[in-house]
Amino acid sequence: MGNRISSEQKYESLYRSLSNTIPRGRLVRTPLRTFAYGTDASFYRLVPRLVVQVQSEAEVINTVRACADHGTPYTYRGAGTSLSGQALSDSVLIQISRSWDGIQISGDALYVRCKPAALGGRVNRALARFQRKIGPDPASIDSAMIGGIAANNASGMCCGNIQDTYHTMDSIRVVFSDGSVLDTASPVSREKFSIERCDLVEKIGELARRVKSNAALVKHIRHKYRIKNTTGYSIHALIDFDDPLEIIAHLMIGSEGTLGFISEITYRTVPDPPYHGTALILFPDIRAACRATSELAGIQVAAIEIMDRYSLSSIKGKPGVPEFLHSLGNDTTALLIEVAANDEHGRRTLVTEVNSVLERQPVAPASDFTFDKAESKRLWEIRKGLFPSLGQTRLPGTTIIIEDVAFPPETLAEAARDLRRLFLQHGYHDAVIFGHALQGNLHFVFCVDFNRQAEVKNYARFMEAMTRVVTEKYDGSLKAEHGTGRNVSPFVEREWGTEAGAIMREIKKIFDPQGILNPGVIISDNPRNHISNLKRTPVSSPTVEKCTECGFCERTCPSRLLSLTPRQRIAAWREISGLQLSGLDRRRLRQLKDEFDYEGEATCAVDGLCGTVCPVGIDTGAFIKELRAAKHSRHSRLLADYVARHFSEVLWAARALLAAGHRAERYIGAGRLAALTRIGRKIFGRNLPEWNTWLPRPATPVRNRQHNVTGEPVVYFPACVSRIFGVSEGSQYGSQTEVIEGLFTKAGLRAIYPQNVNQLCCGMAFASKGFFAAAEQKMNELIAELISVSDGVCPIVIDTSPCASRLRSYASRNKNLRIYEISEFLLEKVVPRVRIQKAHGPIGVHVPCSLKVNGGDQNLLQLVRLCAESVHTAESAPCCGFAGDRGFNYPELPASALGRFANDLPHGCEEGYSSSRTCELGISMHSGINFRSVAYLLDKVSTATSRESPTRL
Ligand SMILES: Cc1cc2nc3c(=O)[nH]c(=O)nc-3n(C[C@H](O)[C@H](O)[C@H](O)COP(=O)(O)OP(=O)(O)OC[C@H]3O[C@@H](n4cnc5c(N)ncnc54)[C@H](O)[C@@H]3O)c2cc1C
Repeated sequence: MGNRISSEQKYESLYRSLSNTIPRGRLVRTPLRTFAYGTDASFYRLVPRLVVQVQSEAEVINTVRACADHGTPYTYRGAGTSLSGQALSDSVLIQISRSWDGIQISGDALYVRCKPAALGGRVNRALARFQRKIGPDPASIDSAMIGGIAANNASGMCCGNIQDTYHTMDSIRVVFSDGSVLDTASPVSREKFSIERCDLVEKIGELARRVKSNAALVKHIRHKYRIKNTTGYSIHALIDFDDPLEIIAHLMIGSEGTLGFISEITYRTVPDPPYHGTALILFPDIRAACRATSELAGIQVAAIEIMDRYSLSSIKGKPGVPEFLHSLGNDTTALLIEVAANDEHGRRTLVTEVNSVLERQPVAPASDFTFDKAESKRLWEIRKGLFPSLGQTRLPGTTIIIEDVAFPPETLAEAARDLRRLFLQHGYHDAVIFGHALQGNLHFVFCVDFNRQAEVKNYARFMEAMTRVVTEKYDGSLKAEHGTGRNVSPFVEREWGTEAGAIMREIKKIFDPQGILNPGVIISDNPRNHISNLKRTPVSSPTVEKCTECGFCERTCPSRLLSLTPRQRIAAWREISGLQLSGLDRRRLRQLKDEFDYEGEATCAVDGLCGTVCPVGIDTGAFIKELRAAKHSRHSRLLADYVARHFSEVLWAARALLAAGHRAERYIGAGRLAALTRIGRKIFGRNLPEWNTWLPRPATPVRNRQHNVTGEPVVYFPACVSRIFGVSEGSQYGSQTEVIEGLFTKAGLRAIYPQNVNQLCCGMAFASKGFFAAAEQKMNELIAELISVSDGVCPIVIDTSPCASRLRSYASRNKNLRIYEISEFLLEKVVPRVRIQKAHGPIGVHVPCSLKVNGGDQNLLQLVRLCAESVHTAESAPCCGFAGDRGFNYPELPASALGRFANDLPHGCEEGYSSSRTCELGISMHSGINFRSVAYLLDKVSTATSRESPTRL
């Protein structure tokens, strides 16, 4: 008890000390949120006592100094996509804020300098126009941060062990455990560090000399790195470099946060040749596939991926998988071969060389080389879909395990057969093998139920047997690219031998004498470290059951800087479900549920974007809607039904309230009115929206004007938000409906409104709150009316993208309804009938999530590009977070999602366009840039053409 109290006092004292320099909002210590940070993509769980969200190097220095003073262990965390448990802590977790993500490309694009939270994929998108990229290419590159990529020395399908961070780093900036800083790009910093940290520099220099003088050890190290290896520290740095500062810099790569903090890194970029060719080739067995790989190794192929028969069986019959994969022999093995060249001639030459090798192999007829980007993407999706497809077949409650070993390539076939034997011996019949054949790097995936002790013991036996096979029989690597983490920490010396193992321990001691940097990772004295702190996965909701907690969803989530991310929502709900089932700790259950109400449920935008990047397609928003529905009382459901039945009156009341707000604003001023509503929210709760000067005037109710009786008829359904919100105060433009009608007139079209339009709605506002019955009722009413008014012939246009998407998904069974989302309609049916004079000056565009989810984003982007010369999107805000009307009640959600929106757009960008009224409102309110419907833009830049005989719609 005494110990517990003193430990609590220690964390309390640390918290108070940190709160002097870091805002308390970024010091997280509540039960639910700390639990949510206790997960990465691995099968371990450690719940931190305190999470510190750092946004600058100064904050890192303050934090590590405070931790050192308190003797408190800490772990750095980037995107938390690690697979070996290295991004977890049961003490202090230093979370690198996603906003610390600057990128600077040199004039010739040969170098790129990155801050630690820059996402690898974003860096590559910035480099793409120069036909360059960074070397490391983990499959997780779109989600992983540069700090994590470097600290794991992550690699992938093409980079091998030539273009990884270790080999392509130009310079690095590091914060060490005492707060000292070394920037190897700066001569001043190098000199200062050499003086101030002469202890560290001398010890490393001395260690390197000792290693270099040991010829057998040098030979051993060189031999180990002939293949990919991320087991232990990058000790080749000790023999590759003479300058101790360069040795220190390179030891940081692959050190998994156990030696210091990477606060900046400059990469030498590598070419990204634009001419690609892809082929999927089938072989009768793994031996033939591996033999072909070694022959192909002499050619400049970009990648060769191997997939064993079990892998191919797991994706058989899935959409997009070619026919020839449906009938496979017992041992069929596939190679996915990619070539890349700078021009067409180079590509053809490579393909000819590869084909001449393949002609001599016993290959089964499969695909020839394709140069078509879409077809190539489809073939790569087969390979990339292996992990998800296993995730999908995972039994409830089990955990998915990915191992990552490397063998000398010439032994690959035999090694793969040995692995298969191990799987069978340990009962992992569903295990699949795939990987980077060129480098001899195999991944294998299987599922284990860690809820059962017998399974834990079986897994321990498997690891022991696998270590013997990989290290003793083949002299391979236990971790080729995913990092040692906790998973392989007990086996580092088994792989490397005692002498190299002792060097690694010495390195750890030199950098981290207190032993507080990510303890238990890479170096561990616990022989059971790999089976300690295992993650249990209680069964929760079928909607999210398949989640592997990989974290790919996090980058798209608008609440990622405010509350929880989709992965964290799922992890937290699993814990709540486990507590509910066990009935054991009721107090903790209550605590977690109370916190989840805001962090998990209320601040979820339910935009579905997470589902678009989730490897197993989970839409966490759909899950949150289910939770909302389950919480509703009978009374609230009745109220929702009442609102649905009296919808036009409710819209009338909303417009009246807006009008009253504007009158009040005129009398007492916007500032006072906003302050009053803030007080009101404290008294009456969040249902009272906060006043904001961007709130528009009420819209004029829609009437079925037959303003242009001669044009071709188009059914125009203005969404309910367009019927509530009119134009901003002082605007010289007409309302959205007027502008769209005007555009129709220019194009020779005639708008017809559905009967009783003011009573109609697609039900989105009800569905997002979990009132599914009311939502369904509104949708059915709308569809019936649209069938009637369109007569099954007329096109139907909805002026708000989310409503159009929802209507489409419901009406898809009714083939007669031709439903258009506004940007799609304007692009297809109006643009060809008007004359456009492009606008000058920078213009912002925001694609609503519904368009991204349903693949309509290109329509909006293309339309804006047709109308304006300089078009820009804000990459920091994949979703605006306004979430229908949620942004009125929880303004902190869009405020957080849009925090850097205006900075992402170029200077002088004062107008922006989108296709969702509430997104436009939210962005205007929180970025100060006036966003409106894309219809306004087209109207501004277009004039009518003289039309003799208009083309039919
Ligand atoms: C589906 C899936 C596929 C994957 N595919 C690959 C693959 O092909 N190749 C591959 O190599 N890996 C792969 N990974 C593993 C992982 O995504 C990568 O290693 C990735 O680079 C980790 O980056 P991160 O930002 O998530 O780092 P994190 O997981 O947050 O951290 C990784 C390690 O780095 C440390 N760290 C993080 N930031 C810093 C910093 N600024 N300074 C010092 N230490 C820091 C952490 O303490 C931790 O030890 C995959 C993961 C998943 C889930």
